[in-house]
Amino acid sequence: MQYLTILGSTGSIGRSTLDIVRRHPDRFVVTALTANQDVTQMVSDCLEFRPAFAVMADDVSAAALQQALQSYKLNTEVLAGADALCQVASHSSVDIVMAAIVGAAGLLPAMAAIKTGKTVLLANKEALVMSGRLFMDAAHQNDARILPVDSEHNAIFQCLPAEAQAKLGRCDLSAAGVDKILLTGSGGPFRYTPVADLISVTPEQAVAHPNWSMGRKISVDSATMMNKGLEFIEAKWLFNASEEQIQVIIHPQSVIHSMVQYRDGSVLAQMGQPDMRTPIAHAMGFPERVVSGVNPLDFSRVGELSFLPVDFERYPCLKLAIDACWAGQGATTALNAANEIAVDAFLNTSIGFTQIHHVVADVLSELNPGNIDDLESILAIDAEARQLAHQKIAGLSV
Ligand code: NAD
Ligand code: MG
Repeated sequence: MQYLTILGSTGSIGRSTLDIVRRHPDRFVVTALTANQDVTQMVSDCLEFRPAFAVMADDVSAAALQQALQSYKLNTEVLAGADALCQVASHSSVDIVMAAIVGAAGLLPAMAAIKTGKTVLLANKEALVMSGRLFMDAAHQNDARILPVDSEHNAIFQCLPAEAQAKLGRCDLSAAGVDKILLTGSGGPFRYTPVADLISVTPEQAVAHPNWSMGRKISVDSATMMNKGLEFIEAKWLFNASEEQIQVIIHPQSVIHSMVQYRDGSVLAQMGQPDMRTPIAHAMGFPERVVSGVNPLDFSRVGELSFLPVDFERYPCLKLAIDACWAGQGATTALNAANEIAVDAFLNTSIGFTQIHHVVADVLSELNPGNIDDLESILAIDAEARQLAHQKIAGLSV
């Protein structure tokens, strides 16, 4: 039996993770579930999975959950706040932690899991974007295994040889015969929208991804392709890749989830339905293969697969992220923080779609953060970039 904490259990990745757990009662026991404020979903998941702990982000939601669970006479201990997230991520009875909180809020609990040597299934890419070197070093020092859940990184992981898989963060791609990691992205819902029209697209249009069903923040990131930029940074840290070793390619059908190109001309690809239960089940079962509930790919119905180069005029956020990747950890932290604030402002209709890029670019050029390497400085730059992004947005909306 493997004991599991799911950070962000009410979200899109959290729901898919519970779906895998449901299919394998002989393999997984849920020790802790955590959520921001969705008490209704948490009540129903506690009744079904009977975790030892349930964590809500604030006291009010925790009290509401506590009250609801009491009437069912459930023994689940209800906790609240950021420290409680770290507590359940590092609890001695836990083997595996699914890190699926969205955004910077997921960093400290994911780090707590790493520092206690857990197997961390990493969906929360923002944690790695903020603290890449620190995160990978802490995993090495504490013997924590990281298994990538993001579909692209999971695909790349599957296409790498076992020696490279065992040394995430410090693998030698060149020694493994790898020329390039080919990071694929669909291009999102606005791939064919005239660039001049992007200024007026709505949040509803932006979150309607053509292939994947995901949370709202990552859906907007997919529309700007900031998501691919965050994934570029994530790939650099996970696979210890140099600038020449990562390339982004548009692949509209999302059948290939990423590829690895070898020195001899071979290209290995991982394919499947655009359903996150496949990479989640891969990471949960690793090194075994477990049933995920995903339908097999039917090649007689797949049709054509196509590939296009990236157009940075259409996707300026992707360019910003790639530049930040090589500028250092201060830049990627600021990029991520400003983007979270800008995406939120776009979803609240305070700014337009194309202004997401302007806010992030302005914050980066004004802060011009150096290469920082400790958690305190990372959190300080994160806070500074958020504040500056709020100021930029206030300036835009007057
Ligand atoms: P989501 O918005 O659907 O879910 C987020 C979860 O985090 C929810 O359970 C929410 O309650 C919790 N949460 C949010 N803010 C919190 C806070 N301040 N404190 C505590 N908990 C908080 O997001 P998602 O789409 O499931 O994405 C989760 C993470 O996985 C993101 O980092 C995303 O980039 C990554 N990811 C998602 C997908 C996907 O298909 N959805 C694919 C690859 C990677
Ligand atoms: Mg992805």
